[in-house]
Amino acid sequence: MRSSDLPPAGRGARARAVAAASFTLVAAALALPRAALAYCRTSVCPETQSTAAVCTPQQATDCGIPLAWPSPCVSYSLQEDASDQVTLAEAEAIFEQAFATWTAADCGGGTNPRMEVTYLGPISCDAHEYNQRKGNANIITFRDDGWPYGSGGNTLALTTVTYNLKNGEIYDADMEINSFDVTLSMGDDDVSFDLLSIATHEVGHFLGLSHSAEVTATMYADYRPESTILRDLDDDDRAGICAVYPPGEPIEACDPTPRHGFSDLCAEDQPDPEESGGCAAAPSSPGGGGGGLVAAAAASLGALARARRRRAARPGRERAR
Ligand SMILES: [Zn+2]
Repeated sequence: MRSSDLPPAGRGARARAVAAASFTLVAAALALPRAALAYCRTSVCPETQSTAAVCTPQQATDCGIPLAWPSPCVSYSLQEDASDQVTLAEAEAIFEQAFATWTAADCGGGTNPRMEVTYLGPISCDAHEYNQRKGNANIITFRDDGWPYGSGGNTLALTTVTYNLKNGEIYDADMEINSFDVTLSMGDDDVSFDLLSIATHEVGHFLGLSHSAEVTATMYADYRPESTILRDLDDDDRAGICAVYPPGEPIEACDPTPRHGFSDLCAEDQPDPEESGGCAAAPSSPGGGGGGLVAAAAASLGALARARRRRAARPGRERAR
């Protein structure tokens, strides 16, 4: 799969079809007057089969069906190697907190978003991918050895969401952290690029939100180095997540298994569905999901200042591919 370059400072979104054509667009939100803006949801535009941000209140330029997970039970997995900068245990604690920040958001009257996110443990696969005929995992992985998206160190992380082009159902979400270019920090002392801030922002994308033009929002597109402001949700973020997953009946019998079953192996290491007994070859659910109906959108968090290079002279750094 090919990736298009991301705009500087992450002020945009990249989208590509898994099966066929690829396409790129820039978030519409940035062209709108600030006073009219609030949270935005990543959405699919049926006419163009591309993604855009639909912001609230809706603008004439907004189009499309907002993305959301179809089930209130979602899971994620951490790549077992974590990072030279962050141990697996540290990453587990940080992402648990980041997800909890969103699922525990106050929707008013003591209610929360109707969404439960379960950690399925560490896995070996480090590829962001969605398998239409094999098992899946929603992975979070650090990129220590190179950042394949060529942003010159301005992109701190990237979340790719794979969804159904017809109804906006999210099938898979994978998060990549740029630990190659970026000096990450944890805790409240000597903050450089605060991993919890980055994680909390990316979880917003994972759950279907797009960038907000509200400068104090966690979903604002740019991160100010040495700050921890994105750790805590703004009213705008809370309004967004409560709109995507409105409070409702208690969730019972939660099944967070990824679509087509869970696998801790990348597709290339999984047996073919025909050989594996067929559970991964289950027919797609009503509403689509077959070949050609699935697309992926990616959104990134940019830095307001260039990320500090840890290994400026490192040879063999990957360029954009
Ligand atoms: Zn972002």
